Amino acid sequence: MARIFTYIAHKSGVPDDSAAELMAAARKIDAASSPTAIVTGWGPDLDAVCSSLQSSYAETWKISNEALVYPNAELVRKALVKVLPPGSILLVAHEHFGIDLAPGLSVKMNAAFVSDVLGIEGIEGSTLRLIRQEFGGQVSAHVQCDISSGAVITLRPGAFKPLEQASANGVVADKSPELGPLTAGRRYLETIVAEAGDVDITKHAVLVSIGRGIQEKNNVAIAQELADALGAAVSCSRPVVDAKWLEKSRQVGSSGKTVKPQVYLACGISGSFQHLAGIKGNPFIVAINKNPKAPIFQVADVGIVDDLLEFLPELTNKIREMHSVSVK
Ligand SMILES: Cc1cc2nc3c(=O)[nH]c(=O)nc-3n(C[C@H](O)[C@H](O)[C@H](O)COP(=O)(O)OP(=O)(O)OC[C@H]3O[C@@H](n4cnc5c(N)ncnc54)[C@H](O)[C@@H]3O)c2cc1C
Repeated sequence: MARIFTYIAHKSGVPDDSAAELMAAARKIDAASSPTAIVTGWGPDLDAVCSSLQSSYAETWKISNEALVYPNAELVRKALVKVLPPGSILLVAHEHFGIDLAPGLSVKMNAAFVSDVLGIEGIEGSTLRLIRQEFGGQVSAHVQCDISSGAVITLRPGAFKPLEQASANGVVADKSPELGPLTAGRRYLETIVAEAGDVDITKHAVLVSIGRGIQEKNNVAIAQELADALGAAVSCSRPVVDAKWLEKSRQVGSSGKTVKPQVYLACGISGSFQHLAGIKGNPFIVAINKNPKAPIFQVADVGIVDDLLEFLPELTNKIREMHSVSVK
């Protein structure tokens, strides 16, 4: 069985939540596997990430180089090609950076490449069976992948539930000396931090999130009433911002905010990977959508097939009734 690695993205010294999801996916490929985490970067933040991974990964490879201080997929690709053993399987989160990193890396490794994987069905010999989606999630594709020369696989955030992990008490191996000089044509310019807006959706435990299914600006009030009844905030998908029904600071997703609520109500949201990329921390997802085949149902804990314009006011009324009973 090929050795399995996971590439761990991080920010401000904290590993991305995908670290636990990638571990879960590795176990789906090989239940007995103990995947090795790979972390690239520079300075105290990199050390902090490696230390925190020790509690969940038996082995972490640290790749430290001043050139890696800012995320640059071109440099990370060059670094990984130098350290990964031939025939390795590398799992990467299907997010901005992973999408940039993975395809070119598979070419350089002469390995198979499968993107945006939602499920892993199993392995027979050198054939790995995976599930992806086609046509915006309307079709599930069962893919067979020859991993005899290795593979680079990107995994959709939220598709693999993190495992309850016992403390691994893992080791950190420093692979930096194997790198040599790293140069790239790309150059880091600056990080632009998004404005917080009037409501900071990143701070709320419950989000009522609306998508294009809300249909028009006047209907946003229906979601706001439910949010008020729940003590929640209203967030949204990108089309709602594009239509100017809500401001950009409310957008969840790869080009919006990353949120970490305990409960996420996805109302009239189809479940694109760009939207799901912004939902972290494995919240309890309730999806309300009139299309029973909407991809959001594949990641939802509870799915309600209904017209949200009828369902949300009913739910608001029920919650208000519950409040009035408990006050009496
Ligand atoms: C580079 C890039 C970055 C992106 N970044 C983001 C991002 O940060 N965040 C983001 O959200 N998107 C982002 N997108 C867009 C993304 O690809 C999707 O287009 C978007 O998420 C779809 O939004 P949606 O689910 O609201 O709309 P749709 O995909 O149109 O889905 C609407 C859903 O509403 C349902 N519906 C319709 N009417 C009703 C009703 N009355 N009751 C119940 N259900 C109903 C439909 O069945 C459908 O499933 C990005 C795209 C690109 C290319």
